[in-house]
Amino acid sequence: MDFRLTEEQEFFRSAVADTVDRLILPHVERIDQTDEIPPELWKEFTGLGYLGLRYPEELGGMNADPITCMLFYEELSRGSVGFAQAVIMNMLMGTHFLFRFGSPALRERCLLPAIRGEKIATMCFTEDQSGSDLAATRTVARKVDGGWRLTGTKNWITNGPSCDFATVLATTDASKGMKGLNFFLVEKGTSGFQPGQQLHKLGARGPACGELVLDDAFVPEENLLGAEEGKGVAYLGEILNEVRCMTGAMALGMARTAFADGLEYTRKRQAFGKAIGEYQLIRAKIADMATDMEAARLMVYWVAWMIGEGLNPRREAAMAKMYATEMCLKVVDEVTRIYGANGFASEYGPQRYFRDARFLLYGGGTHEIIKDFVGREIIRER
Ligand SMILES: Cc1cc2nc3c(=O)[nH]c(=O)nc-3n(C[C@H](O)[C@H](O)[C@H](O)COP(=O)(O)OP(=O)(O)OC[C@H]3O[C@@H](n4cnc5c(N)ncnc54)[C@H](O)[C@@H]3O)c2cc1C
Repeated sequence: MDFRLTEEQEFFRSAVADTVDRLILPHVERIDQTDEIPPELWKEFTGLGYLGLRYPEELGGMNADPITCMLFYEELSRGSVGFAQAVIMNMLMGTHFLFRFGSPALRERCLLPAIRGEKIATMCFTEDQSGSDLAATRTVARKVDGGWRLTGTKNWITNGPSCDFATVLATTDASKGMKGLNFFLVEKGTSGFQPGQQLHKLGARGPACGELVLDDAFVPEENLLGAEEGKGVAYLGEILNEVRCMTGAMALGMARTAFADGLEYTRKRQAFGKAIGEYQLIRAKIADMATDMEAARLMVYWVAWMIGEGLNPRREAAMAKMYATEMCLKVVDEVTRIYGANGFASEYGPQRYFRDARFLLYGGGTHEIIKDFVGREIIRER
């Protein structure tokens, strides 16, 4: 076993960390307060080429291994989780199916500009009545001459109101449940495709999030993203380990920010004549948080390593996502306690960490769904 990063990975991590400190940290509070990403920040950051991290070099990418990708997601989320959310949507879920199944023309028109940060991508599963339960999807794709007509309303779509194109989950045959689901690429400007109501989020603020409405929107044949009809959920399954690992990496980054802030406070804040960090109960919090962070780190990077080795760590990726997220929620909770009343004040960071961390609960599966999956797998096996 070798737990060390390679020299290249360490160099990359450090370069991303510097970029985050220089470009993103000065904007964090503004992004949270306005719920908007400053256009100049998006332009400058996306111009650095990171959006193609996991894609081949011939597409403008970096062909990075999964560990390097996780280092990027972690560092970015250490800066601003809202900004990270918008960027990662463009890098991973919003473009993955286009990369895998898009025609040369679609790749040229959508994928390459998305990698350059010139187009905004998104991914749409969720509807009002279907979140975890994808089989309840009501958005319908009807076969017509030369293509498909899509009708339905998606909700909770990150980057949705501002997207240039969307990968949309729709059923081509409702009677088949999960086996009737497919992905379609829908571009801005398509007649019958438009943003609906925008949501006001508790945390992870920055990217616009809300409804996307499809009203008999026509897309040509080639916009069905999949080698075989009816395999949408199976294709989704192929990327789920990476998505769950990525969420775990985001949790690590967010926990690091909260922890560093809490630690600093234990040194500065005096009570009964000494720094609160001198009290055993506060030191126990620091020790517990640091231990949980290390454990989560091992799980996340172990899963990234397995993905890079071509393994299929379904159970481990689910565990890592759940463990790292719960760790992050615990860390931000402890940091608000360390801050005392100041942890309740909008003038300080902890309330933001507290709101932001909850975002991790949903992407890649809720913890009820994940726990059920892990438990079921283990019971079946033994
Ligand atoms: C900030 C944010 C951004 C998002 N961005 C996107 C996006 O870009 N694209 C997109 O498509 N979606 C997005 N979502 C939606 C997200 O994917 C869903 O929230 C998620 O799939 C869960 O669905 P739901 O919220 O409808 O909860 P539900 O599925 O309705 O679940 C409600 C509760 O019931 C529990 N539950 C459900 N089924 C079971 C079961 N079988 N056993 C036990 N418990 C169960 C759940 O765990 C949860 O506690 C986003 C959500 C948030 C908060």
